[in-house]
Amino acid sequence: AGKPLIKFSHCEKSIYSFSAPQRCPLCRQDMGSRRLEEAPVSIANPFTNGHQEKYCFLLRPTQGTFLRDYDGRSDLHVGITNTNGAVYNYNMHGVQRDNSGWEQSISIPLLQPNMYGLMDQWDKYLEDFSTSGSWLPHRYKEDSHNCYSYALTFINCVLTTEGKEQLDKSEFTERYVVPRTRLASKYITVHRAIEEQGFYVTDLP
Ligand SMILES: [Zn+2]
Repeated sequence: AGKPLIKFSHCEKSIYSFSAPQRCPLCRQDMGSRRLEEAPVSIANPFTNGHQEKYCFLLRPTQGTFLRDYDGRSDLHVGITNTNGAVYNYNMHGVQRDNSGWEQSISIPLLQPNMYGLMDQWDKYLEDFSTSGSWLPHRYKEDSHNCYSYALTFINCVLTTEGKEQLDKSEFTERYVVPRTRLASKYITVHRAIEEQGFYVTDLP
């Protein structure tokens, strides 16, 4: 996953870097005695190790990683975590139970903390769901019966169990996926710039 970022203001700009510098990178002035409003704040890293997440929906680029390869439009692959670090996902070879490869994911929790019944049964639900005939390799179609269909169908089974309304793909994408990938894109832009130049500057909001 990515490094933590910090943001501070100086020279009437917002400046991002990996750690608080001794001197402002723009004016070279000593940052030792900064005013309170110039104090650095940390920017949350939007990525998590999916193998350490339980009951989550995960997203990652189909090829490569977010920080290195994502351009805002890259194809995303999605999966569902069980409680033991395995990420269930569907592709042309059927349902995969990955124990690696999802170390830099966007993670969306699927259960509220008080849903003990579902938590107890989660691994069994996920395994039973995955062994149903719908997710055999020959059923796979890149555009219409894919990793998204698999994950969303499972999520809708969970929502039904919770007595909630089902979501269609566009609702799910707009409500859960787009806000997070947008945030991730911003973080990636800043992260890459700091890697190249040591810092990143924007106008104050
Ligand atoms: Zn400055």
